[in-house]
Amino acid sequence: MKQIDVVIHNPTGLHARPAKVFVNTAKQFDSDIRVVHGAKKANAKSMISLLTLGVESGSRISILVEGDDEDAALVALETAVANGLGEDHEPPPPVETPAPKSANGQQATAVTLASNMIKGIPAAPGIAIGPIYRLQHEEIVIEEDFQGVTTEQNRLHAAIERARIQLATLHKQMLQTASTSEAAIFEAHLEILDDPDLLDAVLARINKQQCAARAWQAAIDVRAQAMAQLNDPLLAGRAADIQDVGYRVLRLLMGADEQQISLPAHPVILVAGDLSPSDTAALDRDKILGFCTAAGGPTAHSAIIARALSLPAIVSAGEGVLDIENLTTVILNGTSGILTINPDTAAITEAETQKQAWKSAIKAAQKSATQPAITQDGHRVEVVANIGGLADAEKAAAAGAEGVGLLRTEFLFLERTEPPTELEQFEVYRDIVKAMNGQPIIVRTLDIGGDKPLPYIDVAHEDNPFLGERGIRLCLNRPELLRKQLRAILRAAEFGPLRIMFPMVADLSEWREARDMVREIQAELGAPQVELGIMIEVPSAALMADAFAAEVDFFSVGTNDLTQYTLAMDRMHPLLAGKSDGLHPAVLRLISRTVEAAHAAGKWVGVCGELGADAQAVPILIGMGVDELSISVPAIAPAKAQIRSLNLADAKVLAEKALACGTAAEVRNLG
Ligand code: PEP
Ligand code: MG
Repeated sequence: MKQIDVVIHNPTGLHARPAKVFVNTAKQFDSDIRVVHGAKKANAKSMISLLTLGVESGSRISILVEGDDEDAALVALETAVANGLGEDHEPPPPVETPAPKSANGQQATAVTLASNMIKGIPAAPGIAIGPIYRLQHEEIVIEEDFQGVTTEQNRLHAAIERARIQLATLHKQMLQTASTSEAAIFEAHLEILDDPDLLDAVLARINKQQCAARAWQAAIDVRAQAMAQLNDPLLAGRAADIQDVGYRVLRLLMGADEQQISLPAHPVILVAGDLSPSDTAALDRDKILGFCTAAGGPTAHSAIIARALSLPAIVSAGEGVLDIENLTTVILNGTSGILTINPDTAAITEAETQKQAWKSAIKAAQKSATQPAITQDGHRVEVVANIGGLADAEKAAAAGAEGVGLLRTEFLFLERTEPPTELEQFEVYRDIVKAMNGQPIIVRTLDIGGDKPLPYIDVAHEDNPFLGERGIRLCLNRPELLRKQLRAILRAAEFGPLRIMFPMVADLSEWREARDMVREIQAELGAPQVELGIMIEVPSAALMADAFAAEVDFFSVGTNDLTQYTLAMDRMHPLLAGKSDGLHPAVLRLISRTVEAAHAAGKWVGVCGELGADAQAVPILIGMGVDELSISVPAIAPAKAQIRSLNLADAKVLAEKALACGTAAEVRNLG
């Protein structure tokens, strides 16, 4: 037996991609290869086993190899570690565009909830009316029925083989119908299925006279629990995947049919604790009117599927939804996030009307999407898009966007182990500018913080990350990071109209420092002059809007954060979702003050938070004088259609009334 000790320097430790490279290298050899970390030992050819070691960056591990090709194996693994396990020379795979934090472009409403209503987080817009059906996994009772070692082994291999075919089919289907990231989930499931350590553990139990089903379940439980206990959100996701694969094989071992979820013959509104990837894939989508989950968030897998399928959905509605009796009639409003249980006839009729109106309005709006948004009395409002990548830019141009009001650049920086290079960034910004065909785009500089740590940015632990080093603060403390981004943006400005905007500005000095850096780089590069603006998303910036207005070219109000900081309510808090409303008069007063200050200085104001896509907010914002709405791509056509139906004079009156209200509910009840 041979042994070497190595230190893992990968920023995320032996996780994700480095772990995959390590396992794949080990699998090329016949020798038995083990990894020792502290008191734990793992099979180097088993992804699950290796992840459970919890090897963090800087940890020393021992690699123990025994077998005919042990020397070659040792050299290969040592070299792979020294070469960064696939991370030094090759960047990680491209990341998915970060989803907006409330994904449907709608703001939670603050209507007073009746006793038969449950409020969750709106995840996909629209209205569904129908009986609920509680998705419950059939409980599988394993009866000890040991038929001898060979028979049990054969059963196990047959079930794994069938599961492999199912997963490979799902993977293929997802590649065709959904995104590669959804398909990747099933690729990971296939990897779990092929894990040699898992198989060995099950076979060992079978040798000890356990039937295949019990042996399989026990081995799965041990691994899922070990993974969940590591207290790492990434690995907790892997634990859920292990259980998902475990359930699939267990069903096959028990002779259950392939269809994992049987639904009533009639269409239903699905209610579940959460939906696993296998659940969503197994659903007969023609029978689902919408769904509501107790857990999950607007960026959860199930919510992403709902939006892709245009199914109204609510997530994070709380455990209470699981107590509703099956087949109870409900109204699910995916726009407001409200589930109404046992509605009376009048409520059903109203919801039916709303649903039909919503459907026909969507159709009509799509038709006129490329027309400008001009109110009945001739006031034009710019409607532009919030985007998070090149694919969105292409969709935005086609969906009637008159430009981009917010390019969230975070997508370039997330889920990787080193920052993107200037060249990499430049190419993406340039391609986005080009995709917009001469329409202006606003590039927001990196808005990241302690709530979403990046492995290559060293941020000390913060008790309140939303109040910590976020947005422009973080960038100004790391001038090289900001400088590189600004150089890339300014170089892209050669290719079309572009503006730069800074996030989370709380103080004039931050704006001035960022502006000066832009000026310096402009001089260095001989780059064109571009307009510079700030986001108004911290109350101090709104209160000081007159001082800022004298210096900036424009403002864009980030109502998501402005609401969070004004009301002191975490924007992602499931219990506060019903109260954290951008139509609160306190938020509206800050917006109104910002608009007045900007207009007095001859500057313009956009709104790029999700309030801009809230149908109740649109007339109020326009009435307050907001010049531009920047909203998610699907919301563009409906918002433009709505603006065309409005009258500026009436909107002004409504805005005055809203500003005089006492609560968000009062504002919403203005009609
Ligand atoms: C906002 O805060 O409203 C905003 C648009 O920025 P983000 O949602 O990216 O924080
Ligand atoms: Mg923000």
